Amino acid sequence: MTNLNKVLKERFGFNEFKPGQAAILEALIAGQNVVGILPTGGGKSLIYQMMGSLRPGVVLIVSPLLSLMQDQVGRLNFLGEAKAIALNSTLDQQTRTDVLRHLGDFHYIFVSPEMLTNPSIQRALRQVQINLMVVDEAHTIVSWGPDFRPEYLQLAAIHAQLNRPQLLLLTATATQKMLASMLTVMQLDVQHTKIVRLSVNRENIYLQTTTLDNEGQKREEVRRLVQQLRGPGVIYFASRKLATSMAGWLNDHTDLRVAAYHAGLDAVARFTIQQQFMQDELDVITATSAFGMGIDKNDIRYVIHYHLSRSMADYVQEFGRAGRDGQSSIAIQLYVPGDERLQLDMIRSTIPSEQTVTQVYGKQIDETLLDATQLELIHYYQSQNISASAASAIFARRLRERLNELQHLLHYVTLTSGLRDELLTTFDEPVSGDVHHEGQGVLTVADIQNLGLMRQPITVTDTSDARPSWQQKIDKLFNIK
Ligand code: ADP
Repeated sequence: MTNLNKVLKERFGFNEFKPGQAAILEALIAGQNVVGILPTGGGKSLIYQMMGSLRPGVVLIVSPLLSLMQDQVGRLNFLGEAKAIALNSTLDQQTRTDVLRHLGDFHYIFVSPEMLTNPSIQRALRQVQINLMVVDEAHTIVSWGPDFRPEYLQLAAIHAQLNRPQLLLLTATATQKMLASMLTVMQLDVQHTKIVRLSVNRENIYLQTTTLDNEGQKREEVRRLVQQLRGPGVIYFASRKLATSMAGWLNDHTDLRVAAYHAGLDAVARFTIQQQFMQDELDVITATSAFGMGIDKNDIRYVIHYHLSRSMADYVQEFGRAGRDGQSSIAIQLYVPGDERLQLDMIRSTIPSEQTVTQVYGKQIDETLLDATQLELIHYYQSQNISASAASAIFARRLRERLNELQHLLHYVTLTSGLRDELLTTFDEPVSGDVHHEGQGVLTVADIQNLGLMRQPITVTDTSDARPSWQQKIDKLFNIK
């Protein structure tokens, strides 16, 4: 047994590493900076916990998710391995002062990106010896949308101030482009960074697109599918309103137990629904993208997309919530021509136009009328003394990128027969540098039928013939040459 396997067994009680864990640990032990792209539930936290138990000094973990932070701290303190603390907005002033004074007593320090930009916290961190800096959910460094944190833009500078400790970036999804941007933002050289990525090709998930003519057909298809597919399932929607009304409709029109989940629900309602789903008291969740992070149900048998996701990366992350137990599962994208308009509108409403930027900078607009995300972003650039025209240029570039991402997803969705190929060229193409890949395989529709995942055989709609005309339409729609 190698030394690492021994530690895994003796300290953590696991018999073997999950895919990718060992490769990341070995690279870290060899002193490399590492980007680890492992699916949700892939065991990312074990990696830094283990590094902490192999080495003295502090492991600093930058994490945007408050609940996960508290959870990890609780777990580490419970294990009694070493002391852990979370520096976030829930600490009162007195506790914070006390903790900062004794920061050296802690072995694992979790910090939110907001807190990390605080000068007194930076000062305190400079006094301790940080042996590993971990950035969790590292895709938020470059992604754009509800989970975007302007604070992440300062991460590279803070990393430098802390004397450039060894760096571990962790994320569940990143396209090659996102990966390249992450490296640039963090000022990491691809030749000297180890990239460990699991294939997004989840061999136990069958992927399919079904194209329908109109909303009515789509709704019926949902009903047919949820009645036909076995096991717990999730249906993703791009709109809270539709997720909610569909939950009601399915409760009325099937014998299944269905509940809606979205960020507009209060914490108690969200928690209750999660628990009921975990305990199989609910069969189906109709959800928005808010459903997922931190939810650890491993026997989700199917994921249906009623609408398009925000991007390919989001789509991969969302359908990847199926079949985490390794059992055969299915992911179905439903599509009615024109569905992309909803996403187009959303993109346009969250990215400020040049006119809005100018008006906010010039204080010529009632800010309460603006979208909160837009406003936060504009204020951020203002606070960094970036001119209105420079900010507008950044937004224009972002708009273009987001449209490209959506176009990419749409291309993929309307290209049923090439589904996996498209997926793999987007995510799994080797980038130059030190890249480690794991995982492969394809589950076919015949497998799905033979495995009895369906109550009855399912019909597969192949829309590949329709592709050329679709492609033209898409190009026109997005005005991309
Ligand atoms: P992630 O952060 O990647 O979403 P977690 O770190 O929360 O995933 O791990 C998911 C689950 O897998 C946890 O319950 C964890 O204890 C478990 N786990 C981690 N590593 C292993 C392993 N090598 N063998 C078995 N279970 C593991």
